[in-house]
Amino acid sequence: MNLIMDKTEKIGTGDSFNLSVVKYLVPQCKKNCRSACCRTALLYGMLLFSRGRTDELSSSLLDWLMTAAEKRGEVFVIEDFNRIDRRYFSCSECGRYFLCGVFLSSGSVGDPKRDYRLEITIPRDEDGGTALADDLEAYLREIDLLPLRHKPSKGAGAKNTVLYLRQAEKVEDFLNYIGASTPAFEALNIRIHKQYRNEANRITNCETSNIDRAVNAAQKQIRDIELLMESGKLADMDDGLRQTAQLRIENPFVSLQELASMHRPPITKSGVVHRLRKLSSAAKEL
Ligand SMILES: [Zn+2]
Repeated sequence: MNLIMDKTEKIGTGDSFNLSVVKYLVPQCKKNCRSACCRTALLYGMLLFSRGRTDELSSSLLDWLMTAAEKRGEVFVIEDFNRIDRRYFSCSECGRYFLCGVFLSSGSVGDPKRDYRLEITIPRDEDGGTALADDLEAYLREIDLLPLRHKPSKGAGAKNTVLYLRQAEKVEDFLNYIGASTPAFEALNIRIHKQYRNEANRITNCETSNIDRAVNAAQKQIRDIELLMESGKLADMDDGLRQTAQLRIENPFVSLQELASMHRPPITKSGVVHRLRKLSSAAKEL
């Protein structure tokens, strides 16, 4: 049986982030997982979900855990590979280490730059049942991670059930929960940057459309004024209207506010709007 598997091969695209999570978790576990109960829970999570297959980094952790257990004279036997036995969760931290083991042996997370997705692939039992996936789903719901479920019906994946998280916050919560705080923070940072960029783009788009609207309006005003000039009607209009018409023709790209301040004496912006409306309605009557 092939015990060593390259995790980068298994996951495909977006694996650089996944690999960095694994690289972060393995030494963290060795450093921080001090209680015997938590080490057992971690080992249990890894063995229960890996079914003997694990990547190189995780298998170094597995070896380390097994050696430590042997030294303590513990014999570790999993009685039922199709259920999660909660008797392994002794202290308040055991569940975290268990889930960390589950992730290391059968989980993967997408690169938050491209996609928010964390998934755990769970083998079905011999008769096609999904009891192990059901138990894990129940556990994830208890800690408010609310996984979704995918049951491939055909092909190589048909023997598995995939539980996955799609929401960015849930992916970050999961990573935090299993102790991958730095990668979780990195994911959060990427998300904030993305949101900021989207917001900046939205504002720019909004400004662009405002400018477009203003330019279109100015073009229409100028057409109207030209019509009034050609027909000779403008010459008969009062000084104020003629001044506004003249300034608009000479300054097609300035804003209404700027146009108002160019008048001698200056007038208000609403004064300009009022005069331009008068010019337009006069042009309409031609
Ligand atoms: Zn514990």
